Amino acid sequence: MLAQYLQIKGEHPDALLLFRMGDFYETFFDDAKVLADTAGVTLTSRDAKSDHPVPLAGVPHHALDTYLHRLLEAGLTVAICEQVEDPALAQGLVKREVVEIISPGTAMAPELVNTATGVYCLAWAPRREGPGGWALLDASTGDFRCGQETTTLESLCERHAVREVIVHEDTTDGQMQRWRTARPGVVFNRVNGAWFHPEFARRTLIDHFQVAGLGAFGLEEEGREPACTAAGAALRYLSALNLRRPEQVTTLGFVAPGDRLVLDEETLRNLEVFRTFRGDRGAGTLVHHVDGTVTPMGRRLLEQRLAEAMTDLDELNGWHAGVAAAVDDRPWRTALRAILERVGDLERLAARAATGRIGPAALRQLGGALAAVDELAAAAPSGHHRNHPAAGWLDALTGFADLSGRIFRTVAEDAPATVRSSGFIADGVDGELDRCRSLAGDSRGFLAGLQAREREATGIGNLKVGFNKVFGYYFEITNKHLDKVPERFQQKQTLVNSARFHTDELKEAETSILEAEDRAGELETTIFADLLAAVGAQLGPVVAAARAVANVDLMLGFAELAERHDYRRPLCDDSLELEITGGRHPVVEQLLEADFIPNDTVLDGVGRQVLLLTGPNMGGKSTYLRQVALIVLLAQAGGFVPARSARIGVTDRIFTRVGASDNLARGESTFYVEMSEAAHILHQMSRRSLVILDEIGRGTSTYDGLSLAWAITEFLADRLGPRPRSVFATHYHELTELEDQIEGLVNLQLEVKEWEGRIIFLHTVRPGRSDKSYGIHVARLAGLPEGVLHRAEAILASLSAGDRRDLPARLPGTEEGPPAAASAPQLSLFRESERDALAALRELDLDRISPVDAFMWLVKIRTQLDD
Ligand code: ADP
Repeated sequence: MLAQYLQIKGEHPDALLLFRMGDFYETFFDDAKVLADTAGVTLTSRDAKSDHPVPLAGVPHHALDTYLHRLLEAGLTVAICEQVEDPALAQGLVKREVVEIISPGTAMAPELVNTATGVYCLAWAPRREGPGGWALLDASTGDFRCGQETTTLESLCERHAVREVIVHEDTTDGQMQRWRTARPGVVFNRVNGAWFHPEFARRTLIDHFQVAGLGAFGLEEEGREPACTAAGAALRYLSALNLRRPEQVTTLGFVAPGDRLVLDEETLRNLEVFRTFRGDRGAGTLVHHVDGTVTPMGRRLLEQRLAEAMTDLDELNGWHAGVAAAVDDRPWRTALRAILERVGDLERLAARAATGRIGPAALRQLGGALAAVDELAAAAPSGHHRNHPAAGWLDALTGFADLSGRIFRTVAEDAPATVRSSGFIADGVDGELDRCRSLAGDSRGFLAGLQAREREATGIGNLKVGFNKVFGYYFEITNKHLDKVPERFQQKQTLVNSARFHTDELKEAETSILEAEDRAGELETTIFADLLAAVGAQLGPVVAAARAVANVDLMLGFAELAERHDYRRPLCDDSLELEITGGRHPVVEQLLEADFIPNDTVLDGVGRQVLLLTGPNMGGKSTYLRQVALIVLLAQAGGFVPARSARIGVTDRIFTRVGASDNLARGESTFYVEMSEAAHILHQMSRRSLVILDEIGRGTSTYDGLSLAWAITEFLADRLGPRPRSVFATHYHELTELEDQIEGLVNLQLEVKEWEGRIIFLHTVRPGRSDKSYGIHVARLAGLPEGVLHRAEAILASLSAGDRRDLPARLPGTEEGPPAAASAPQLSLFRESERDALAALRELDLDRISPVDAFMWLVKIRTQLDD
């Protein structure tokens, strides 16, 4: 047996092999230790007394799903090896085969996947130059998309619910390690490099979709090789694991570069789109608070939309008009949503049906879902909604009445979850099945009659008919009555207190009952398989229905949200304007106990191109910055926005960076990270981008930071550059002076009131610069000891009274300034000669200098300063 085990294990060295032995799945050697560690089962050993005991750990077969869940959570790939012949009939060793391999990113069973998000396996094919190819494949729904762009693997992981990443086997250990550290929730696997070979990948796709070329998927165009390669590798990986054709994958979408508003990793994190700063999903994230959908498909589409919002004006306006109509007609919307709730997770049920991983009970659910789709298609165009997008999407679908009717007629109403037990096919479906069943049923009646007759004939009152698997049907008679047993009874078995017999009549009945039951079982299996094939034949329309339903659900969900939180319809156009009145932060406003103070934003890419925001800590700067970005994102995702009105010139990218964010996980200094992120923005931004910077330059010394923040601001506003619409929050008040020098730069501040030495945050944004930081006030609110606060106030007073003299308008190292530079703003606590003196003081080696030399040095410095 161990030889058989080792041979099979040798074929699947990278997977944890669960080896079926009777009622258990066993593991041996290292796998046993891994299983014991991750699933918390006891580690024992086989042949414990020998010199080479074999470590052993197992799980009961009926609890497989529970343990599978734990193993996948731990990032393991699991191979399930079953006994593929009946042990009772086997000659010698039972034949065993691996029937399925499940990896964390390719699981399908409902117990193993989260309904709210997709479960993507991402194939990543980076290239030394040019954009890398990516492909996302969700085995549980069949969703399959690919694209190519200059991005990082981390960004792709943040953008989509990626559970597993596969890359070429040549990827270095160091690289794998870096990814694993940066994304602990994702499993990274290296796979056969041949799968990433462009020609092999192409063939994989062509063979799977049974097409002559990939033109229909947009992959035949020049330069689409990276996307195509990644897609081929992803599909090949899935079929290698499943050991069969992934039938649920019916189409492949190509996401063309520039077609979507994509956010990079940092921006998604800063805006807390999918995860909070702490890394949690759920409350606090944008997706959680703007989710008005009622089906898992709608919810997953919302995720996808936020990750890849729209940029096409027609598409956007179509969505906004659709949402508007749904907002205006609440009864219609409510009626449709009630039907939607009954559709449930059609997409995943369809994928399970396509791959044969569906039991009778779930198949009935699928029937119910399809019936609901028909109802939805009938209800959507009612009233004046004939031209509503929802009606249009559903209209394209063929009716599912026949299919759902057939499912309901065929599968019994209270059908069990699996086909292991019998009775899941309804009565009246098949004449022969009915006959077999009634024969089996009749025989039972017959047996009861026989028992009564034999009691009568023999005079044994407690004679009874029994059944077991080995001996079949028998009469059981207790020892007390054995003397009354007639000749025609043949003894089969002797027990302690009784004996078992049969008669010719009983044998005959037994044969016909068992035959009927066997035949009924066979018939049920065949009928179920036929039904699955019928569902499979309609897979295309069913999948299309699932996608249509997802869109309808999302559109109505946006409408529901709009009504619930008073969101308004944004106007998207191709201008460079961004005009928001009464804008709110969609998440903060829902979490805040107090009222949220709405604020306006006006950017136009010309006269108001860079908004420079100052104000005390806790004033609301970060909230304001993010709300601007989130309103744009929501609008371009197709929804209404938390504002009184919004006019949005379509945005191609949103960049946000927060200064000195902790990114220690990557082992780079925070300041380095901050600067490399800023560099990324400055290289990638375009005229249509929205750039949001929060306290950039904070992670270094004041002068460095100020200089960098200054130079970055100038670059954003550079007339020869792309000049993206930008909002920049900073605590370098010196920067506000730039308003006079740079055209298009406008100062904004967050209003505060001082009252009896205290500070009141009004959270209103208004024009102008804030000249005080109120740092000490904020520290008081935070509960710093009074003594410390008084001392800080005294220090501040003396510092403020100190010298503030002129500096050149531009800091060293920047190019020549405009003429206005002559009016030299004040930028520093110290003038140049003082800074030189300080620098010299820092360099002084106090361990070596003699008292006399020290005195001479002081005289020299003093003279310089006096000069
Ligand atoms: P800053 O970035 O200036 O330090 P934040 O944006 O972090 O300030 O805001 C501090 C707190 O003020 C937030 O946690 C929020 O509770 C509150 N706040 C911010 N903006 C508003 C607003 N517009 N209306 C009401 N409360 C707000």
